[in-house]
Amino acid sequence: MLAASASLLNIKTVILDVGEHGPAKQVVAPLSSQHAHVDGSFSDPAKIKELAAKVDVLTVEIEHVDADALEQAGCVVHPSPSTIKLIQDKFAQKQHLQTRGCPISPFIPVESTVESIRAAARSLGLPLMLKSRTLAYDGRGNFVLRNISQAEEALAALGNRPLYAEKWVPFTHEIAVIVVRSTTGEVRAYPVVETVHKDNICHLVFAPLRSRDATLSQRAQSVAMEAIKTFDGAGVFGVEMFLMKDGTIFINEIAPRPHNSGHYTIEACETSQYENHLRAILSLPLGSTELKVPSCAMLNIIGLSSSMDEIKALTDVALTVPGASTHLYGKSECRKGRKMGHITVVAPSDAELRSRLRTLLSALPSSPI
Ligand code: ATP
Ligand code: MG
Ligand code: MG
Repeated sequence: MLAASASLLNIKTVILDVGEHGPAKQVVAPLSSQHAHVDGSFSDPAKIKELAAKVDVLTVEIEHVDADALEQAGCVVHPSPSTIKLIQDKFAQKQHLQTRGCPISPFIPVESTVESIRAAARSLGLPLMLKSRTLAYDGRGNFVLRNISQAEEALAALGNRPLYAEKWVPFTHEIAVIVVRSTTGEVRAYPVVETVHKDNICHLVFAPLRSRDATLSQRAQSVAMEAIKTFDGAGVFGVEMFLMKDGTIFINEIAPRPHNSGHYTIEACETSQYENHLRAILSLPLGSTELKVPSCAMLNIIGLSSSMDEIKALTDVALTVPGASTHLYGKSECRKGRKMGHITVVAPSDAELRSRLRTLLSALPSSPI
């Protein structure tokens, strides 16, 4: 999506990813043999060096990269490698947010031992959210400890990865705000959205967030912007938050890149998160983050098995729904739980949106909500 946006602005892009036909490589043809895409892993320092030698500005669309290699890239890197490094360790990220006064719920370090997990449960209570400090995504790296006797099970599930524990947050809603920050430090927030997760994976996003609390939207945007101001570097950041019954907001986590909760901006906002990421890292004027449609929803297309049949059935229906835009990522294999694409639906009213969305959801074997 970043590559597609770059091509509209005639920004030449070189991609580092494993394989010759990775999703982004399908979008942009290599510029020249000198600027061929790089075949390799974003955690391989040699490959990062190879990419850096071909570009003026380097950016990431995943935080699980080799941040030390980025520090030595020798070209402009956004967001700054130190920010990526800080954010990719979720415990360090929480400590950073806590010392900057950002609202977060209690968390403590945990050793990868049964005794340490039990001590954390005694300290923060049950259920307890155990999280892997690094390499987490789509909830892979989280374990909900409901009973103290599950400590062994948690260790087995999370392996030998460094852990920490978070107090369970009994939120009523999950919300998110995309924030864009320019090289001069200007920050702009996109509208607040509601995210609906199932099995730790984001399934649906609704924009804008509807609430009886007239202050909520502005409060959430300001929490998100204040948090992003504490990090160095330019680009788009996704700020995931928990909303409590009494209106309190806690930050769950921050992503230093365009975010799943901002896919809707492609069809629904004046400037998509991808275009604004490019504008931000290239020192171009930031674009408007305003909504340009009254109501919008985004449905992730999540693999149900190794077969694409269910996805085909869903996208066939999507093609008949007014206001629905299908995005398929061109991933080589489908797997249960893998994000294969998404569908954004825009509508002139919330009622019309619900009706359009209902048609889509009825094409799924089981409802995500
Ligand atoms: P992502 O794909 O968003 O990067 P992740 O693997 O980093 O996901 P988290 O965002 O930490 O995982 O958690 C996934 C989901 O688990 C959250 O969206 C929320 O639904 C739930 N969750 C996380 N932390 C807590 C908590 N402390 N209390 C209750 N629920 C939580
Ligand atoms: Mg995460
Ligand atoms: Mg998350």
